[in-house]
Amino acid sequence: MRITDDRYTRDRQRLDLAIRMIRHEARTQTIRLWTGLTDDRIRKLYKTYVELHGPDVKRHRGKSPQQSAFFFRNLEVRREAAGLAGLFALLGLLKGAAKDSRPGGTLAMLRWGELFCRAYETHLALHRSHRITFEHAFHLLHVLERNAELGLDTCPACDALVLVDHARLHAGRCVWCERDDRRPKLRGAGAVARH
Ligand SMILES: [Zn+2]
Repeated sequence: MRITDDRYTRDRQRLDLAIRMIRHEARTQTIRLWTGLTDDRIRKLYKTYVELHGPDVKRHRGKSPQQSAFFFRNLEVRREAAGLAGLFALLGLLKGAAKDSRPGGTLAMLRWGELFCRAYETHLALHRSHRITFEHAFHLLHVLERNAELGLDTCPACDALVLVDHARLHAGRCVWCERDDRRPKLRGAGAVARH
């Protein structure tokens, strides 16, 4: 009886996480990877979700985004990515636990998925623009965990958390300090005009 209860609870947790991910427009392969549900069950869940909540949510197929350059495309995305990375760190998601080796649908993987959703939902509550999709957020965590392409550092001018591209020779300033640097300096502009 106890085993049956546990199985029921686990299945319920899988479905709950899958629905949460569908709401965030996660890709089918990511939902399968985390929850262990079959594509057929995910498809049926998606259909039920659309019937209940309307067609606003999109179902994405194919590969997840894999371009780290996305996080440096402009100051807004850099700022939001640094904030999201801070949330990952705060919630203990950057401990380097190799989630790839965890089978989908296990209790550890489901708890990890719920924690990731909490980090992403907090990020959405803080930023109305939603520039970083769920899948981009997953990619960000993935590269930060590996500390290969991207890492975290502090701004040399103000100690704010900054996202660092390891391909660059040195860590740049944070977006706030960079914005200050870019503001037109009236005295400098006048000196140029005199020449
Ligand atoms: Zn700074």
